[in-house]
Amino acid sequence: MPAPTAQPAIDWLDANESASIDRLLQWLRLPSVGTDPAHDKDTRAAGQWAADHLRESGFDVELMPTGTADSPGHPIVLAHCDGAAEYTGPHILFYGHYDVQPVDPIELWNSPPFEPVVLAAENGIGERVVARGACDDKGQVHMFLEAMRAWKEGAGETGGGVRFTVLLEGEEESGSVNLEQFVRDQAEMLGKADVCLISDTGMLGRGKPAITYGVRGLAYTEVVLHSADQDLHSGLWGGKVPNPINELVKVLSGLWDDDRRVTIPGFYDGVRELQDSERKEWESLGVNPAKGLAAIGLSLDASVGEKGYSYIEREWARPTCDINGIIGGYTGPGAKTVIPSHASAKVSFRLVDDMDSATISKAFFAWCEARTPAGCRWEFDDHGGGAPATCATDSVPLQAARRAIARACKTTPAMIKSGGSIPVAGLLKDELGLETIFMGFGLEDDRVHSPNEKFELDCFRMGARSHAALIEELRSL
Ligand SMILES: [Zn+2]
Repeated sequence: MPAPTAQPAIDWLDANESASIDRLLQWLRLPSVGTDPAHDKDTRAAGQWAADHLRESGFDVELMPTGTADSPGHPIVLAHCDGAAEYTGPHILFYGHYDVQPVDPIELWNSPPFEPVVLAAENGIGERVVARGACDDKGQVHMFLEAMRAWKEGAGETGGGVRFTVLLEGEEESGSVNLEQFVRDQAEMLGKADVCLISDTGMLGRGKPAITYGVRGLAYTEVVLHSADQDLHSGLWGGKVPNPINELVKVLSGLWDDDRRVTIPGFYDGVRELQDSERKEWESLGVNPAKGLAAIGLSLDASVGEKGYSYIEREWARPTCDINGIIGGYTGPGAKTVIPSHASAKVSFRLVDDMDSATISKAFFAWCEARTPAGCRWEFDDHGGGAPATCATDSVPLQAARRAIARACKTTPAMIKSGGSIPVAGLLKDELGLETIFMGFGLEDDRVHSPNEKFELDCFRMGARSHAALIEELRSL
């Protein structure tokens, strides 16, 4: 039997677009600020809303509790469909989140964040929905939800006949604190999936869809250097005992060599080297460093980083080390001549495949230990992090996603990576061995996490069609 075509579903999306957008507006009206207990009911309602949507599209849906009786978390929407009897393609795990970031500073919004508005195109910005969550992540998840609805309504098949598990959490914006336990508890069921699909990333630019096939991991640490058991007078003690701030900055300044490579022994051991083919492909994307730098008030002379790698390679293919905060001594108004008893720094590392977060933190602490200044001692804190995740570019589902986007958007998607971290991808890789394909349709100026967050209808359209077309590609495998 030939695979069913996506055309009826795509036609349905076209014919019912205003109803699709209305549904998105309904969802956006539920203020699901997951981190704020005052919004617990709203957050749950937003989860319930997504559950109802999937149920209407024929999925088996459950709202699964998370956390413990003493400290319950927001429920996870778990939905499933078996697919057509003859389906032989991969079982897809779709992940998204229904919680949103807090809205402050509220005075910078041009319209109330939970009263979504649709604004007409202007100054190069397309017609768009403005609301908290418009893009991150309700708008992006809604593309998938509507593609499911379109296959059900337009072609009469739940999930388009593909085997799907859908997992929508309500705690992504507050650290996904209960997700790891949930994934462990449900490992047997979730592990039946072959690949994970996430829509929470961006395109290369307006009208330039992209597949993000890798994100970096993270190791986040804090180190405290202690010396005297009390703060000291700098006149009486300065110059004859260690000053923990002086000593700390001296030690940390040794973290990079002249080529801006990290000096911790073994740091690069796990790094997967950049392939020539990848290098060429990235070069052909035409990313313009001058333009990117100008957007943050810098010129090309600020394009500094590890020697031997380009602007984009430093973000997508190389690990980094950064001091994110440094604390010690007197920082109030005026002068205070103090030698503090201790000083601390928050130091983090962005990781690439196949580096391991805990190994890197440990190596950093050992490196500090080996450089302990005389008269000082360290205190170390590993704040954790997440694994990097890269999907093999020749993977069958990734190639299917590529063809789907090319067809739905009438342009070949760029294959990009992101320097950021999406911990769930690392978690699914570590716990279930799943690779993740990021099929997102956001734009750099969508103001996610900021006032006046928006999602352009053109992006929504491309995303919904691409997800509908993906089903046909999967059915043809
Ligand atoms: Zn977010």
